[in-house]
Amino acid sequence: AINMSVNALVEQLIRPEVRALQAYPVGKAEGMIKLDAMENPFRWPEEMISEWQSLLADCALNRYPNPVAPEVVAGLREAMQVPDKYEVLLGNGSDEIIQLLAMAVAQPGACVLAPEPGFVMYKMIATFVGIDYCGVPLNDDFSLNRDAMLAAINEKKPALIFLAQPNNPTGNLWAEDDLVAIIEASNTADYKGLVILDEAYLPFSSRNHLSWLDRFDNVLVMRTLSKVGLAGLRLGMLFGRKEWLSELDKIRMPYNINVLTQASAAFALKHYDVLMQQCDVLKSERRKMHGKLSELGFSAFDSEANFILARVPEGKVARDIFEALKQENILIKCTDGAHPLLAKTLRFTVGAPEENIALYAALEKVLAA
Ligand code: PMP
Repeated sequence: AINMSVNALVEQLIRPEVRALQAYPVGKAEGMIKLDAMENPFRWPEEMISEWQSLLADCALNRYPNPVAPEVVAGLREAMQVPDKYEVLLGNGSDEIIQLLAMAVAQPGACVLAPEPGFVMYKMIATFVGIDYCGVPLNDDFSLNRDAMLAAINEKKPALIFLAQPNNPTGNLWAEDDLVAIIEASNTADYKGLVILDEAYLPFSSRNHLSWLDRFDNVLVMRTLSKVGLAGLRLGMLFGRKEWLSELDKIRMPYNINVLTQASAAFALKHYDVLMQQCDVLKSERRKMHGKLSELGFSAFDSEANFILARVPEGKVARDIFEALKQENILIKCTDGAHPLLAKTLRFTVGAPEENIALYAALEKVLAA
């Protein structure tokens, strides 16, 4: 009877759209080759690790962190060549920045718009803060459907538009003139929308949009350290004009970047070249993986990120391959079923060379079975 009444309380107090949510899915991966979450598989060189450990020993855990994380900001400016004319806002992962953006625009009738298939947190966070979400399907080849985007923008007048470049889970970049058309259509006489260029996978990409901050008043650029080896730290960042960022900064929790993250990120950014070299290895592994998946009969899509989306060979079932790989101790992401355009697809994070070799061997075995 007590359970019943708690359920009834929950039903009365928790919003129905929250009750209907599924928590963000995180696969169990202990002891497995982990190729599901776009992490960097490499360790730091030993001397870097010991230098970092001695820095951590000096961290004052009894004190609140510096609310503006000056060393991290300076490190980012240096490593990513961010000019002083742009402000930097830090988040506990870019997830938190998406949440800050959504909170800042949340009011009755506000809408978040993003192409689909895309990063699922855009939609989830819109739901968290109680505003509408509009997903606009990509073309079959995962290019932007410019007409559909412009029509949806015209109809919904979204306050926020997320464009991930490269896109997750498809891995591709969109045509620059499509992006420009969307940005320009979002700053007209009777409608204004803020466009977030999400460059989470920039370190693996051939295009960088930082200079677009100069070209467009309604653009901000979001990045993260998660994909270059620091997923565990949780550090995301937003670059843009002061006018935008000073407003967003007001709703940021003052101590959102903890002492250990600040010390570790500032240190890692001093050694950004090491991380970039690791990314270079991953880019060459990506090329090999694309070739190998194609050899094995997959239709692998071109990728500018540290993962590859691939359609399974004729006559094979994506989820079966996913499960069979799990039996071989390899965890990838089954994207089949997540969106109609992702039918029969799997997503492979590019791992370290020996992990990828293990993947190819397991795939050969699984496909032959
Ligand atoms: N944007 C995109 C496109 C992503 O794929 C991800 C991670 N999967 C994120 C943002 C979030 O990254 P984080 O919160 O780790 O910074």
